[in-house]
Amino acid sequence: MVVNGIHTSTEYHGKLDTIAVHGSGEAKTNGAAVLPVHNSVTYGVRGEYKDGCAFYTRPADTPNHAELAKKMALLEGTKAAVVTASGMAAISSTLFALLRSGDHLIIQDNVYGGTHELVHEEFPSLGIEHTTVDPQDPAQWEQALRPNTKVFYVESISNPLVRVTDLAGVAGFARRHGITPVVDNTFASPVLCRPADMGFVVVHSATKFLNGHSDLLAGVVSSSRDFIGKVTQKMVMYGGCLDPHACFLLNRGMATLGLRMRQQCASALAIAEMLQQHPMVENVSYPALASSPDHALATKLFGGRGGGVLSFVLRGSMAQTKAFLGHLHLPFVAPSLGGVESLVCLPAETSHLALGPDGRKAAGIPETLVRLSVGVEDTADLIQDIQQALAAAGIKNCHVSNGGAPH
Ligand SMILES: *Cc1c(COP(=O)(O)O)cnc(C)c1O
Repeated sequence: MVVNGIHTSTEYHGKLDTIAVHGSGEAKTNGAAVLPVHNSVTYGVRGEYKDGCAFYTRPADTPNHAELAKKMALLEGTKAAVVTASGMAAISSTLFALLRSGDHLIIQDNVYGGTHELVHEEFPSLGIEHTTVDPQDPAQWEQALRPNTKVFYVESISNPLVRVTDLAGVAGFARRHGITPVVDNTFASPVLCRPADMGFVVVHSATKFLNGHSDLLAGVVSSSRDFIGKVTQKMVMYGGCLDPHACFLLNRGMATLGLRMRQQCASALAIAEMLQQHPMVENVSYPALASSPDHALATKLFGGRGGGVLSFVLRGSMAQTKAFLGHLHLPFVAPSLGGVESLVCLPAETSHLALGPDGRKAAGIPETLVRLSVGVEDTADLIQDIQQALAAAGIKNCHVSNGGAPH
């Protein structure tokens, strides 16, 4: 259904796996089982422009954009959604719709690098100020609050330490103070939680778990009809529209979201448990582990699941940690996450390089921290591969200093 040009969810009420496959259930045109790609950038009009009719691609108005937006709104349980050219286009369009010169936002410390840069490097020159807070320390939230605070921005699971945010606490705080809570739900995905139910505007890098195949860039924002209208205006103005062919691929990738995520959560937990017992491993960070400081939160918010990403520190030097990466056959050594293939990287040299050694120390990120995004390969194969790489790297029980443990 299209209301004022905004694609909104229908009254369809399937469970997540059904929605992931069928979407709105309205997209089968001309007898085709699969929605074709609408590559046309312009659409014919006879005399008058009807509200909600596609006539150009940049407003994300094609049948491919519409179907994807409806599927996403149904998955996150919102009235509306809009797909964008990247996760950063979703995040910037959302924040530009909420903030203007003279405004202030509260933002979780240690957010995704691109978001950090937007808020710390770009916003000050636009007259938008911010205060960073620990998402688990409500006393800091109170202190950060100002009369001009408009937004509280958090991530449901943090990167690379895989800490869980107290989403109910943040939502309650935002409601009491009349500010808009925004959550980047990329790491959790709607399979683990639907923060819109608590009142959040939800943004995603669909590049990661939603698409799941490491073969496109995309983003999504899910919220009320009114607010998605405002985000869409910014997205259209700044040119952040997703390409129709990428819509087609994302729609296909999302069909297996639940299947993939369940396998990734199960394998990640099995790997985390193996690593935790391993004499060559100093520390494992994964919220579904019974020993995790976030276990209670993960139980409450995610039904005990921890997602597809974990991080750990080996009992060894940087050289030995790199030797371990070099001996892995299955996980591909690269940044990014959420794909069907396991990906492994050192955040200090990739996602968190820009922080520098002091910034990483302040954020509690050890230099030798390894981040693993678990794919859908066979669990036993992954465990065996990690074990052989640990043995081949010759990491002994030697307690070399690594600049601080993950917690
Ligand atoms: C990758 C990522 C982004 C940015 O998404 P792009 O699709 O690369 O623009 C934002 N937030 C999180 C948590 C991410 O992992």
